[in-house]
Amino acid sequence: MNTNVILKCQYCDDIIHARVGFSNQEKQIFRFACRKCTSPIIIQLDLDFKQISFKVSIDGGNLLSENGPDCFDQSNQFVDLHLDYPTYYGEYQMGLTPFIRASQKLKENLLLYESCLGKLQLAVNEKENIKAIIRFYLTGNHVLFKKNVREYLDEKGFPCEKRIDINRALYQLLEIFFMGLTDPPSNAEFVVSVTKKLSDLHKGSEKEFGLFLHQMMDTDFLKNLQKDCLEIYGRVLDLNEIFRPALYYSFVEDDNKETSLRIANSDFSKHKDLFNDISEIISRQMSLIAGINNIDKRGKCNLFNSNTRNYPSNLDEFANRSFGNKSNYIDDMFWGEIATNVTKNRLRNAIAHYKIEYTEASQEIEYYFKPEGLKQQEHEKITFMDFTIILLDSFRWLHKFNHIIKMFYVFWFLKYEQSRNSPSRRGKI
Ligand SMILES: [Zn+2]
Repeated sequence: MNTNVILKCQYCDDIIHARVGFSNQEKQIFRFACRKCTSPIIIQLDLDFKQISFKVSIDGGNLLSENGPDCFDQSNQFVDLHLDYPTYYGEYQMGLTPFIRASQKLKENLLLYESCLGKLQLAVNEKENIKAIIRFYLTGNHVLFKKNVREYLDEKGFPCEKRIDINRALYQLLEIFFMGLTDPPSNAEFVVSVTKKLSDLHKGSEKEFGLFLHQMMDTDFLKNLQKDCLEIYGRVLDLNEIFRPALYYSFVEDDNKETSLRIANSDFSKHKDLFNDISEIISRQMSLIAGINNIDKRGKCNLFNSNTRNYPSNLDEFANRSFGNKSNYIDDMFWGEIATNVTKNRLRNAIAHYKIEYTEASQEIEYYFKPEGLKQQEHEKITFMDFTIILLDSFRWLHKFNHIIKMFYVFWFLKYEQSRNSPSRRGKI
């Protein structure tokens, strides 16, 4: 369903035609820049599913008409808006809505994509409960954690009696609610491979593995990392609209570079911080991978490959290395490939350290990926759409690496917790 809106930009008086497609959320906010004067214009759509009615409100422009026929003329600027699919800023074409455009590209994947959107929406509907359950887990309020998590999990399968059960229940809850975004088959493959790696390591180097785990616990590194990781999930649900068109590109391969396709809410600044924080957490998650890799290859978590140029002398030093260089110090093929995949992204490296410029009218991001002192010249350009695809990919990596944290806790509860106070096992990371 759509509504066709005609409005006047309040800054330059230009007439704008907008076809607004309905998503399955009660409140939908669209934002785009006026093509003539670049001022931001916000259209808010409030749907009342019970009354089968809706209300349109505009910020940055004056509403001239709404719910008119789908027959705009070509002389005015035109935007084709929908939260679930890439939007289109170009010439008006009758009947060719974002949904029709997307379904022509998705073909047999349309149902699969719609199913992922449905799962995401279920999580969005429950987001305050999900945030509360995460909060109860993090504050150690196991009574309220159990009370609330049982609404979603089978009590028989998830008894929640011991801390290991609570840990398992939390991660099961995340799997259920984020399966629309996280690519479950590749996630499951990763978890199976990593579980085997860690079990082998525990069997083969039990003492050193235990020392590493004690260091992670004694320094609160694992606890703080898990806390920061878990706080991302609620923020992803708060900003869920931005992930929808990105998810669409998980099902369509051939049309990333169509610059006429845009994001329905062009506000970059509020999404930049989420990307920055996810990148920062992944960079810290890499310390877990480096420690595992070092034990596996050299028997000690702090021992890096001395044949690597400028190698870190221990995990403390590794933690301070730049994100983009961290994969250089991980020499096991399995982890190395993963680390390279994650860290060799210039945007991910650039966003925390160097300069970024965003042009809302064209939805283009320019970023400077090298430290060049006062004079920053060498830069790359991507679209906001590409940014959202990298953001989704980053969240998927954070989620995968979060399973390593979960597994560390499983080993801790099962094998090491009782010996925590042994002085010989204390260390620093
Ligand atoms: Zn204008």
